[in-house]
Amino acid sequence: LPADIFPGRRNSAGIDIADPLVREPLLERLAVLDARRWHAEPTFRSPEQGEVAPITQPQDLTHEVGTRRDALPEEIDVAITRAMAIQPGWDSLGGEKRALLLEAAADRFEAHTDEILSLCQREAGKTLMDAVLELREGVDFLRYYANEARRLFSGPLPLPGPTGEENRLSLHGRGVFATISPWNFPLAIFIGPAAAALAAGNTVIAKPAEQTPLIAALAVKLCHEAGIPEDVFQLLPGAGEVGQLITSDPRLAGVAFTGSTQTAQAINRTLAARDGPIATLIAETGGQNAMIVDSSALPEQVTRDVVNSAFQSAGQRCSALRVLYLQDDVAEETLAMIKGAFEALAIGDPEELATDVGPVIDPDAKAALERHVARRKKHGRMVWRRKMPRNTAAGCFVAPTIIEIDSILDLRRENFGPILHVVRYKASELGRVIEDINATGYGLTLGLHSRIEATRRFVEARARVGNFYVNRNQIGAVVESQPFGGEGMSGTGPKAGGPHYVARFATERVVCIDT
Ligand code: GLU
Repeated sequence: LPADIFPGRRNSAGIDIADPLVREPLLERLAVLDARRWHAEPTFRSPEQGEVAPITQPQDLTHEVGTRRDALPEEIDVAITRAMAIQPGWDSLGGEKRALLLEAAADRFEAHTDEILSLCQREAGKTLMDAVLELREGVDFLRYYANEARRLFSGPLPLPGPTGEENRLSLHGRGVFATISPWNFPLAIFIGPAAAALAAGNTVIAKPAEQTPLIAALAVKLCHEAGIPEDVFQLLPGAGEVGQLITSDPRLAGVAFTGSTQTAQAINRTLAARDGPIATLIAETGGQNAMIVDSSALPEQVTRDVVNSAFQSAGQRCSALRVLYLQDDVAEETLAMIKGAFEALAIGDPEELATDVGPVIDPDAKAALERHVARRKKHGRMVWRRKMPRNTAAGCFVAPTIIEIDSILDLRRENFGPILHVVRYKASELGRVIEDINATGYGLTLGLHSRIEATRRFVEARARVGNFYVNRNQIGAVVESQPFGGEGMSGTGPKAGGPHYVARFATERVVCIDT
C-alpha cells in the first residue's frame, strides 16, 4: 500500500520553550522532579537479587539519579522463554491492534512529558532543547511505526495467479527480537527500534545502554500501562556482558543494534557463531561525517550550521559534523566567523536554560576525547579550545575544540564529542576530497554548502553516504521526512523513520491455493 494512505498522522509539535508561559511552569515542575530517584530492573525478576549499581548525573558525578539492577543469566533465559511463548499470539493480533497499542504508548509518553524531560537532562546530561527534541522523536517513531503496522500488516497482498491458482503474500513477525540501544538518544533510539519490531509482530527484549537504563525503564513501564503485555516487551538492563549473553542465545530471530561499528561487528560474529535461526542484524553505527564548504557559500549560514552540527548535543550524535572542508580562498574568513560563534557557546550545566553545550556521557568518554586532543597537539597542529567555566569540575565536561588537520584520513576513529576538525582544500581537489571521505569506509551524513548547482550534482553523484544535507545543518533527521541511517561501516540500513524500516523486522510468507 502507498505510504500516504493514513494522512491523519502528523509529527509531534513539541514544546515551545521560547514561550515563557510554557517554559516557566515547565521549569518549575522539572525542579520538583530533581529530587526523584528512579530504578531500573528486569521486567521479570528471579528471587535471587543481583547487585545494584548507582546511576549518576554526567554533569555532576556526585549526584545520584537512581539505581540499576542488571539482568542475571537466568532472567535472560526466562525473558526469552516468555517472549517466545507469546510471540505467535502477538503476531496474530494483526497490524491494526498493534498500531492502536503503539499509539496509546505515544499518548502515555506525552502525558509523562515532565518525567521524560527530567530524565533526559539528569540521566543523559541533555540540554532542555535536546530533551524536548528527544521526546518528540520518540513519540514520532511510535506513531509512524504504528501506521506502518497498519499499512504492511492489515492483510495479505493478492498476487497474480496466471494459471488459475490463488496467490497471496503476507508479512509476519520473525520471532523474538533483541534491541540494544545507545545512551545518546536514550528514549528515541530505545523506543524506535523496539516499536518497529513490535509493529512487525515480534516480541522484544530490550537492553538499554548501561549509562541510561532509567529512562528506558520508564518507557517500558509506559508501554505496559498503554496495554502492551509485559511478556511482549521486556526490559533487561545491564552492561556489555548482558548484551553478549542475549545475542548468543540461539532462540533469537534478530537484533536491532545502535552503537559503535566495532560492537556491531562483534554482535555480527556472535550471531554467526550460533545455531538456530539465521538471525537478522539491523545495525546503525558510527560515522566520520564531513561538510564541504565552497567559496559560493553564505558565511553566516555556514557558521550557524557548522556550530550546530558539530557542537549541539555536545557533538554526541552519530550524525554530527567531525571534519569541515573549507575551500582555501574563503577558509580564513569563514574560520574566523566560526571561531566567533564558537567563543560565544555557553558551556555548563544542561539544566541551565542558557547552556548550549552540556557534558559528555561519562568519564571514559571524556578521557578518550582528551587523549585525542593531546595527541593532535603533540603533532603540532593548531588547536583552539574553549576555557571551561569554573563550576564544571564535578562533571564530565570536555571543552569544545577545533583542530586543523590535513585530511579526514588522518583520523582513525570517530571522536564522539564536541571536537571539530578543519581541513583546507583547493577547488581543483574536490574530487579527491570526496574520494577521501568515501575512503574512510563510513557513510552516514555529509553536508555541503554551495550555491553552485553543478557542484551539488557532482558531490551527490559521488558521495556514498546515507544522509546528504545541502545548505543546512546535518543533524536532526526528522521521522518520515528524512529517514536516517548510513551505509558501509555506518550501518546495515534500512533507515529509521523511513518506509522500508518495519518490513525488515518481518518475514514474508506466500500461500498458493490451487482449485
Ligand atoms: N537521528 C539523529 C540525527 O539525525 C542521530 C542519531 C544518532 O546519533 O544515533 O541527528
